[in-house]
Amino acid sequence: MTSDTLVLGAGMVGVSIACHLQARGRSVTLVDRRAPGRETSFGNAGLIQREAVQPHPFPRDLANLWRVLPNKSIDVRYRAGAMFSEANPLWQYWRYSAPRAFERIVPEYAALIMRCTAEHEALFQPAGASALVRRDGWLQVFRTQTAFEQFLAKAEDFRTRFGVTYERIDPPRLREMEPDLSLEVVGAVHWTNAWSVIDPGGLVQAYADYFRSLGGQVVQAEATDIARRAGQWHLETAGGRLSATDMVLATGPWSPAWLARLGYDMPMFVMRGYHMHYDPAPGATLHYGIMDAEKGYLLTPKSAGLRLTTGAELNTIDAAPRLGQLEAAEATARQFFALGERREQTPWKGARPCLADMKPVIGPAHRHEGLWFAFGHGHQGFTLGPATGRLIGEMMDGETPFIDPGPYASDRFHARESAI
Ligand SMILES: Cc1cc2nc3c(=O)[nH]c(=O)nc-3n(C[C@H](O)[C@H](O)[C@H](O)COP(=O)(O)OP(=O)(O)OC[C@H]3O[C@@H](n4cnc5c(N)ncnc54)[C@H](O)[C@@H]3O)c2cc1C
Repeated sequence: MTSDTLVLGAGMVGVSIACHLQARGRSVTLVDRRAPGRETSFGNAGLIQREAVQPHPFPRDLANLWRVLPNKSIDVRYRAGAMFSEANPLWQYWRYSAPRAFERIVPEYAALIMRCTAEHEALFQPAGASALVRRDGWLQVFRTQTAFEQFLAKAEDFRTRFGVTYERIDPPRLREMEPDLSLEVVGAVHWTNAWSVIDPGGLVQAYADYFRSLGGQVVQAEATDIARRAGQWHLETAGGRLSATDMVLATGPWSPAWLARLGYDMPMFVMRGYHMHYDPAPGATLHYGIMDAEKGYLLTPKSAGLRLTTGAELNTIDAAPRLGQLEAAEATARQFFALGERREQTPWKGARPCLADMKPVIGPAHRHEGLWFAFGHGHQGFTLGPATGRLIGEMMDGETPFIDPGPYASDRFHARESAI
């Protein structure tokens, strides 16, 4: 089958790109071994994080490192073997997390985040999926006054520099908003211009249906090889060869294998995470997505139940699940809110696709004509898919992009290595 453009990977990023390109008049084929939105974009916390103007740096202060070292915390766990096999990207991640380097990264990351809600709306309105999106924000709750006050200062900085809106919520107001919390906390930050999605996989599916309604093709097949011959990209799949003039790689956490095959060396690694759904205990209701900020897990109401998501597990993508982090999160969450039975037998496991400098790669592949990259969105790929789709569409059509794409360029690790 031949089309103008092939998009490999039908997660939030690939599907959003496919929508934009098809709407721009290209004939687009979207390829995935699974139905759209069944991998990382399925199992996340479903927050459209307008507040996430700052990516997640490697903890560098001694207190935090000491806390994480015993491998018992809920927010971060690691497997020693993966620390060795991923030593190079992790070392670079550590260096990019140094205060001076990180300060440069924040506004570059924020530029994309600041467009996230508008760009989602530009897709979920025509897709007829607005019922999946709640616009009432989410809460980060605090157990100690010092952590709460420090965090409020950060929230205020985000407001003044990047237009994030929030409210300080003191305990009486929190009890009104969430009467069924079973633990006394000192307060919460309510992110008021962030949104949440009650069925993250369902939203990707809705965008894929919209793509089809525009005339796009979805092919479900495992891709096994990629090559460029005679001015065309050829993708070998279990269902036969697909060819196109342009090709977009949007394979999320599976991107490193494709990059190696194409001869690119980028410092990429994954931060795995888990989820499980629960019934609420009889009579208990949770209204908002809530992060127990000093513990590091999230509880969000979804159509499938109350979804508990864990923090980061530094491990290789295919290693067997390690359920201790989810179990620890569940035990802590049960003290916080009356959770009932688990709804599934087996926890869901996924992997956040991360680059060492905490920014995605979005734009032309610097060593191949007609190849475009869109991966590495880390903790916020669900948030950033539609903004990425718009950026790729504008760049592919040679228009002036709506934001400067320079910070996401694929050659930045070689060009700027010495500037860290
Ligand atoms: C626990 C957890 C919570 C999270 N919470 C949030 C949140 O609240 N908000 C947020 O913005 N982000 C969140 N994230 C991050 C977010 O989920 C990811 O950044 C995002 O889903 C990545 O999207 P993607 O399209 O790049 O990758 P994916 O959704 O993984 O899509 C990549 C696709 O490529 C396909 N693929 C790969 N290789 C092949 C092949 N050989 N042949 C065919 N198909 C192939 C896969 O099948 C897959 O469908 C969270 C992540 C986790 C793990």
